Amino acid sequence: MLLCFAEGRSGDRAWLIAHDLEPPTPAADPLLERRARHEPLAYILGTREFFGRSFRVGPGVLIPRHETEILVELALDLIDLHGVGRVLDLGTGSGCIAITLAAERPVSVTGVDISRAALEIARLNDTLGTVHWIEHDGIPARSFDLVVSNPPYISVHEKLSREVSEYEPAEALFAGDDALGFYKRIAEAATGCKRVAVEIGRGQHDAVAAIFAQQGWRLEQSRRDLSKVIRALAFYLP
Ligand code: GLN
Repeated sequence: MLLCFAEGRSGDRAWLIAHDLEPPTPAADPLLERRARHEPLAYILGTREFFGRSFRVGPGVLIPRHETEILVELALDLIDLHGVGRVLDLGTGSGCIAITLAAERPVSVTGVDISRAALEIARLNDTLGTVHWIEHDGIPARSFDLVVSNPPYISVHEKLSREVSEYEPAEALFAGDDALGFYKRIAEAATGCKRVAVEIGRGQHDAVAAIFAQQGWRLEQSRRDLSKVIRALAFYLP
């Protein structure tokens, strides 16, 4: 991918295979050096694919993960099942969830993040201007039918690869000692909305369900990722 990128032929694997005997362009050297220092590929290329679309990424936003496509699929099903009209993406980062939902369904989507750097990238990604962006800490004071969030859910004690720990923004990853702080906040703050769908980390299913149950939420659905890890939960208020 780095060689194709350096040749100005991003994604053209056939070209690379057809030119396998040519020496690599020297333009690839600084890119390979960055990768050797564990910088994530997506930051070097400046883009990452998510749900079939390309998103700009850079230091300051979490790189979209394939697991998050499970959360998007769940949100799309909730939109279809319940005739959802207004969606909030809480902690939008690159905007990948908000922009995907707005592209896939005729819903009004708001994307919120506490980070100005993240919102700048989210706005760049919103080439069609379909999402309403707000710089805010928490849920804005207006009504939503569905709150979707992939919040930080990693314990500060967890050991991560250098790609993640040295390059991705800590504020997008970590949620204190027990890694559950953001679920507590969302369960309390989202009670003005009818439904919530959240991504969770491996093994957090029971703890997160209990946090939401304490605020009166009922579990509607859970979804596993391709590794069979329960990855997304949907709740509603009866
Ligand atoms: N919503 C963004 C994503 O899923 C950012 C999430 C985050 O920074 N925790 O990629």
